[in-house]
Amino acid sequence: MEEFTKFVRGGILGPIKKWGTKWSLWPVHLVTACCGAELAHAFACGYDGERIGALNYGIARQTNLIIVEGAITRKMARVLRITWEQMPDPKFVIVMGACGLNGGIFWNGYNLVKPSEVVPVEFFIPGCPPTPEALLRGIRQLQIKLDKGVAENSVSFSEVKAEKGKKPRILPRGVKKVSLAPCIVIAREKEVEWELGKNLCEKLKVLGRAVITARNRIALKVDPDKLRSSAMKLRDLGFDHVKSVNVVDAPNEGKFIVEYWISSYSVKELMPVLINLHSEISRREPKISSLSDIFPSADYLEREMQDLFGVEFVGNPWKGRFLLAPDAPEAPLRKDFKLQEEVYVGD
Ligand code: SF4
Repeated sequence: MEEFTKFVRGGILGPIKKWGTKWSLWPVHLVTACCGAELAHAFACGYDGERIGALNYGIARQTNLIIVEGAITRKMARVLRITWEQMPDPKFVIVMGACGLNGGIFWNGYNLVKPSEVVPVEFFIPGCPPTPEALLRGIRQLQIKLDKGVAENSVSFSEVKAEKGKKPRILPRGVKKVSLAPCIVIAREKEVEWELGKNLCEKLKVLGRAVITARNRIALKVDPDKLRSSAMKLRDLGFDHVKSVNVVDAPNEGKFIVEYWISSYSVKELMPVLINLHSEISRREPKISSLSDIFPSADYLEREMQDLFGVEFVGNPWKGRFLLAPDAPEAPLRKDFKLQEEVYVGD
C-alpha cells in the first residue's frame, strides 16, 4: 500500500494527482459563525466559487477542505476536530474572519478557542467578515500552494497510551484569556435630534442618570434600591414589557451590571423606544429586586440570569434550576468560572 501511495504521489501519476486535488477542493459544510454568510455569498451565483473547482459538500468523508467561518467556541472546537479527523488525506484548513485569527470581537470571551490550536491551518483570511472575493482568493492561494508543493498527508498517527481503565479523550484545549480591566460603557451621551427622547429624559432624571444613547434609545442608570420605583414610573409612562434581561460581569471592578430592556406594545409613539434600565450590584452579594410582578415578561429572563450568573432576583418566585441541568455547575457564565482543563490527545 505504501509503495502504491509513493507511486501515485511521486511517480508518473504525481502531477495528475496534484492537478486533480487542486481543482477538486471540496469544503465541508461547517458553518460556525456569521462569516458563514460570506461563504454562502462566495458560492452563490454572483461569485460562483465552483468555477475554481470548490464545491461545498455535506459529508466530511468526501471532502478535503475545511473553511472555518469565524469564531470557534469550546463546544464547536470538538466538532471541528472530529470533522477534520473524519476527512481523508490530503486535507486542508482555511480560517476566515478576525474571530478565527485571534478572537475578533470575542477576544476576551471565556469560551473562545483558536482554530489553529485544534487543527493545522494553511491560510488565514483577515476581515470581519472577509469579503467573498477574499475567500476565493484564499482558495486560489491554496491552489497555488498545491501547485508548488505536493498534496501531502497532514496526519501522522501515533499511539497514545491511555490511563489504565480509561479511554483516550479527544477534547479541545482551554484558552485562558480574561480581560484585565474590562471597560464597560453603557450610557455615553450623544447629540441626537429626538424631541420625545429629550422629554422622556427630563421625566426620568429624578430617578437616576438618564441619557440618550441613540435615536429611540435611552439608558437609565439607577441605584439598586430605586430599581423598582423606576420600573413603576416607566410603567406609568406607558412602557409595558421587558424585552430582555442581561447581566454583565465585571470581576475586576467587583460588580455585576443588571440591565432590563423595556419597551411598549400599547402606546404607539413609545413602540420604537427602548429603555435600558440598569443598576450595579456588588459581586460579593449579588442580589437585586425582581421586576417580574411589574413586568411579567421579565420573569423567565430573570430565572435564566439567576441560573447563568448566580444573581438572585429577590421576589421572583422561582427557586430551582431553570435553564441548566440539575447537576450543572453554579453560575457558568461568570468570567471567573473555572472550566475543566481539556487537552487533545492524538498526533
Ligand atoms: S469575523 Fe466578524 S463576521 Fe466573522 S465570525 Fe467573527 S464577528 Fe462574525
